[in-house]
Amino acid sequence: MKEKSILTGIRPTGNMHLGHYFGAVQTWKQLQDREEPFYLEIADVQALTDHFDQPDMVHKNVVELAIDILSCGIDPKKTNIFIQSMVPEIAELTVFYSNLVTIARLYRNPTVKTEMHQKKELFGDKGEGITYGFLGYPISQAADITAFTGVLVPVGEDQLPLLEQCREIVRKFNHIYGETLLEPEPILSDNKRIKGLDGNEKMGKSLGNAIFLSDDEDTIVKKIMGAVTDSNKIKKDDPANPDICMVYYYHKLVNSENLNVVCEECKKGKRGCVACKKELIANMLKFLKPIQDKRKYYLEHPEIIEQILKDGTEKAQAKAKNTMHDIKQSMQIDYFNRQDEAK
Ligand code: ATP
Ligand code: MG
Repeated sequence: MKEKSILTGIRPTGNMHLGHYFGAVQTWKQLQDREEPFYLEIADVQALTDHFDQPDMVHKNVVELAIDILSCGIDPKKTNIFIQSMVPEIAELTVFYSNLVTIARLYRNPTVKTEMHQKKELFGDKGEGITYGFLGYPISQAADITAFTGVLVPVGEDQLPLLEQCREIVRKFNHIYGETLLEPEPILSDNKRIKGLDGNEKMGKSLGNAIFLSDDEDTIVKKIMGAVTDSNKIKKDDPANPDICMVYYYHKLVNSENLNVVCEECKKGKRGCVACKKELIANMLKFLKPIQDKRKYYLEHPEIIEQILKDGTEKAQAKAKNTMHDIKQSMQIDYFNRQDEAK
């Protein structure tokens, strides 16, 4: 069958945050060295499903994200970074697959449910104002994956129900139209889900609880100073539980030197939260420095970014065209090719 590949995506709804770095980028870096081609989609069409009224925000963030991705060490020679809306086959496939999924199944999808509730302002308290496009975004995600014969799909834990939905679509498609598509498998990173500053199970761009890789020093200071800690600790020398403290949680990500000391001192009431937060700020800034230096370079060279996106998109277009040929053949909607065969 066709060349198998690895496909992943990120929505241009804001800059990359620590959740992406520790939950996704680490895995991407390993995968880009494998022999299967690696496609990294900047999912602008998907971003528009819940940000359709902010086209300028989505547009700006396509370039911002490309800069973030490269600054984290993703190598454009190994990874095809492309823009979703520039591969029309994905939209076409979404239409075909939408025949294979019931509305009830989409409503039951746990990711759709969670995100619908998070977006009450847009979709109403009970989701009564949900759009066709947002409800159907798992279908467009299945189109993304299969357009690239993405058999391996690195995702965060929040995306697993979407991948399951894609697998169902693949099975149904193959059952009806004949074996054409491959079932994708998720790849979870060791850090399946990085928590937010507010203690929420997931740090998210749209959740207002993220530390962005592009945040400047003042912003980092403000965010970390406001991070959720053990609320039972009132006085500086009260003992506390680091396991429910977001400051300790981020120490674990960026502090490789004296993590045990932080933990023990916290448990014994030997360190105040302010000092602990200041130490985290220093480590966070140290961690972000090389990424932000690269960001600065790319910001000064927009022509490099444009070329990388053009090259990646061209490769993605060629691949999706190829897949589409097979899919149309299976669905018997390859009219002119068929007439040629009949001659
Ligand atoms: P949005 O709020 O717009 O949905 P997001 O922060 O969820 O943004 P996405 O672009 O939806 O980011 O996700 C890109 C990839 O990063 C997905 O595979 C997702 O599972 C993963 N990811 C996002 N946030 C986290 C997190 N906090 N921990 C681990 N992985 C994450
Ligand atoms: Mg998301």
